[in-house]
Amino acid sequence: MTTQNVPQKVSLLERIQPAVGGREILDPATVEVVGRAPEATMEDLDAAVARARAAQPGWAARSDADRAERLNAAAEAIEAHAEELAVLLSREQGKPLNGPNARFEVGACVAWLRATASFPVGPEVIVDDESGRAELHHRPLGVVGAIGPWNWPMMISIWQIAPSLRMGNTVVIKPSEYTPLSVLGLVEVLNTVLDPDVLIAVPGRGDTGDRLTRHPDIAKIMFTGSTPTGKKIIAAASETVKRLTMELGGNDAGIVLDDADPTAIAEDLFWGAFINTGQTCAAMKRLYVPDALYDQVCDALVAIAGQMPMGVGLDEANVLGPVQNRAQWEIVDRLVTAAQDSGARILIGGDPDPEVIAGRGGHFYPTTLVADIEEDNPLVVEEQFGPVLPIIRYTDLEQAITAANALEVGLGSSVWSSDLDRARAVAARLEAGTTWINKHGAVDPRIPFGGAKESGFGLEFGTHGLREVSQSHVIAW
Ligand code: NDP
Repeated sequence: MTTQNVPQKVSLLERIQPAVGGREILDPATVEVVGRAPEATMEDLDAAVARARAAQPGWAARSDADRAERLNAAAEAIEAHAEELAVLLSREQGKPLNGPNARFEVGACVAWLRATASFPVGPEVIVDDESGRAELHHRPLGVVGAIGPWNWPMMISIWQIAPSLRMGNTVVIKPSEYTPLSVLGLVEVLNTVLDPDVLIAVPGRGDTGDRLTRHPDIAKIMFTGSTPTGKKIIAAASETVKRLTMELGGNDAGIVLDDADPTAIAEDLFWGAFINTGQTCAAMKRLYVPDALYDQVCDALVAIAGQMPMGVGLDEANVLGPVQNRAQWEIVDRLVTAAQDSGARILIGGDPDPEVIAGRGGHFYPTTLVADIEEDNPLVVEEQFGPVLPIIRYTDLEQAITAANALEVGLGSSVWSSDLDRARAVAARLEAGTTWINKHGAVDPRIPFGGAKESGFGLEFGTHGLREVSQSHVIAW
């Protein structure tokens, strides 16, 4: 028997790379080439939108149960490729395989697909009495344009894709230029079970996203990224009165109350801030701690931070990775330097490797905790989006609540206490889309998630998220 005719297994990376050319994507931990990403032209984008538009009526004509079944099949397809996807994600994004990172992210894709397949979407009866009856139906919008970031590229794509498809829309998705391979790999796997042209990825840069935002055949934009880009999208989308879901930047505050147990909460505080090496929209980015507990909380956090290995993602021991790109590394470095220059105290970290400062090697920034920092320091008022947490001392709880609410953003927030009633009373006063108690950033596919103030608008997840990717249609008699 000869092996000549036995088909060789083609890797996901080989399937998504162009035959020739493409843009080299570097591993942020090693600066080695991960692969080559195709770049869509504007004509490619227009053709993708036209194909998705042509496919939409057929997809919408399938029964809801059928579409839900496709989402479950998509979850299975991801499970079948889970390790390959996790390795690709780890290499391109930098996040380690272990900890709340690459394998966790692939698992979240599966969980969100299954959950999104299960939520009820039937018509809601709004009025049913002697005056008559009114039903609220949820129809597809058409083609949804999805634009995503580089921090959780697969999971956030699923947050955009799954509800859109469930509601009978088709999707054109533009990944971040930093992490196109992760999203192309994910879409390749999903497309093994979806109808042709129901989901199309168009890798490109900001101008590709801008065209998608202005495209007359795109009914809605789902966007996750920075507030400045979000403002541009809001302006551009107004030309065609597009529906929008905007999940923008945050600068989440955590407030420890004086009855909390520092040792008991320290590990959850740490991961609330350092999940994905701090590169998470709803991570804790400033921590307010009362005088009475200040030193204990700082010591407990330092002890935990010192135990968490940071390094190359494919090394199974690591749970923290590099900053994903040099531009973001420079933001982190600038903010820590500003804190140091102002006299704040570095408890652990700071002091990046001179080789990295010089632009050589992976974009690692040490896990950094900063104490005795003023409320108006740039590290407190700007979003660091990296492995750094400022710990701000307060004497009066009112002062901490005022400071937490002082910024123009309000994505998440948290209150840490042994007294649930007290924590709930403080939570009710925080200006944010979500306030967690004794945890931070714990998103759940059943629970609506969205921002307050300049952190955006529109809810994702659960039945609320399904409504946001549909056209409301009242039928009354
Ligand atoms: P951006 O907001 O610039 O990018 C997000 C997405 O929008 C990318 O796909 C980007 O494409 C695309 N885009 C850029 N310009 C336009 C435009 N005019 N119209 C439509 N789409 C556009 O975020 P960055 O990745 O540059 O990160 C900058 C900052 O944003 C970070 O420092 C962090 O503070 C915050 N951020 C917040 C995230 C969150 O989850 N809320 C996630 C990532 C970042 P391309 O990448 O090709 O430019």
